[in-house]
Amino acid sequence: MGARWGLAAPAEEATTPLDGFLAESDTIAAALVSCDGTVLEANRALDLLLGPTLCLHQVVVPAHGAVVTALLAEAGPSWHSVQAGLVRRDGELVDCRVWALLQAHGVLVLAEPLRTPGEKLNSLLLELNDDLLGARRELAAKNRRLRELDELKNMFLASATHDLKTPLTSILGYAEILGWEGLSPEAGRMALSIQTSAHRVLRMINDLLDAAQIMTGELKLERSRGDLTSVVRCAVEAVQPAARARQITFSVHGPESVAAHFDERRVLQILDNLLSNAVKYSHHGGQVDVTCEPRGPGASVAVRDTGIGIPVGEQEQLFSRYFRASTALEHGIGGTGLGLANARSFAEAHGGSLACVSEPGVGSTFTLALAQGPVDS
Ligand code: ADP
Repeated sequence: MGARWGLAAPAEEATTPLDGFLAESDTIAAALVSCDGTVLEANRALDLLLGPTLCLHQVVVPAHGAVVTALLAEAGPSWHSVQAGLVRRDGELVDCRVWALLQAHGVLVLAEPLRTPGEKLNSLLLELNDDLLGARRELAAKNRRLRELDELKNMFLASATHDLKTPLTSILGYAEILGWEGLSPEAGRMALSIQTSAHRVLRMINDLLDAAQIMTGELKLERSRGDLTSVVRCAVEAVQPAARARQITFSVHGPESVAAHFDERRVLQILDNLLSNAVKYSHHGGQVDVTCEPRGPGASVAVRDTGIGIPVGEQEQLFSRYFRASTALEHGIGGTGLGLANARSFAEAHGGSLACVSEPGVGSTFTLALAQGPVDS
């Protein structure tokens, strides 16, 4: 039995029913009745609620008489209850839960008034209010935490742009100068290794900065009409040191020039990602084919490698932030999983697309399609 209305669960061992607190109670209506409902003894609360009562059935709403009769007939050594309407002394009906326990001298009956629909609604609203207050407090704490994390992210971005990028740029610059001087083959290899590693770290920092810019909706394109093939050639040139180090050969296919409308910096970033991935995820001595050609009213660049490939089921997820294919993990090749997600966002910002077709152990083809964009007058 619940503790609603301050009604404590009656102890099953109570043997002298209307003794003590029950006899005196103003709040718990209690009576000792015989099996046919005749009231043998009633307490104050029952008198207050139902008035002087000779037989329990006299105060039970007729439609509920049968359930109360059954309750009395089946009363046993543990509490049983039914819900029944009782007639208050002022003539009003009050919904009650009626409890029965078989005692030595009769059946001990308790009547607990249930709340009216209005009261129930009120208490529901109060409970809801409590829940809402709790949820609001929790939400406020989470908000505070998010603001702290946001500040941390801003601090990271500020230091990434300045404290990390600035020294990296000079490492890269000096490594390149070293590469031009007449170094011994050993020192030359070291200079190249510094250069490619510094490039990789710089790319990771740039990927993180770009991802932050995309997420905050701050990505803006500066598009103009230009020759896509020459941008492709530039990008291919830039990955040559890394490609040569792994004896990977590149071939560029397509017309001498392909006119398109694009943001050169962003398209270079897309190509840089696709081409450096083609090198990174290829075996020594692999082959990469880059085809730049007109496509419908726009243009496309396809980068095909003979590398480790990607399982079909994972190909669409490649463009989700931080996703790394199982083939990359199996081969122990490092990365952030941010480059392709950023590259697709850049392509889509152009009204274009970036897609992948791949087969594990055979190779992958990534295709960037750019929409036509406005034609020059
Ligand atoms: P990263 O290379 O830094 O992990 P990317 O976003 O550029 O991040 O690529 C996401 C994942 O896609 C890579 O981790 C790799 O599993 C897979 N991937 C990308 N390009 C290739 C490719 N040419 N061949 C095989 N797997 C690739």
